[in-house]
Amino acid sequence: MPLLSESPLCPICLSQIEDAIHMMVSCPMKKETWKAGQAMLLKPIVNPLLIWQVITFQSLPRSNKELQASIPDLITYGRILQVIWSCHWQVVFDQATWSHANAMNRLRNSECYRKNVEGEEGRKEVQTTD
Ligand SMILES: [Zn+2]
Repeated sequence: MPLLSESPLCPICLSQIEDAIHMMVSCPMKKETWKAGQAMLLKPIVNPLLIWQVITFQSLPRSNKELQASIPDLITYGRILQVIWSCHWQVVFDQATWSHANAMNRLRNSECYRKNVEGEEGRKEVQTTD
């Protein structure tokens, strides 16, 4: 296990200096996962940098009502972040290559997918049988 990275470059794209923002949202490979992940989980596609500002508490809804309404989105963003985090460390520690398909499979197998997507489908099926 490496104790210290030998290079300041992102281990995924190998083209930019890796800081926290690049690691979680700005890397081109992760941007792709953020956008496809939001689409898969039936959320409007929001710029990952704006999501980063929300999940790091730099920008939050002002009113309690707006904050409460944003909780399902925050849970979805949290799940995408968790998938990106685990796939990132898989690349670093297992010397794997970044796989967008692997990230999307992890997201598809999540509780969040079942709630956001299959839950929606379930409700639609109930509505069409009435
Ligand atoms: Zn990168």
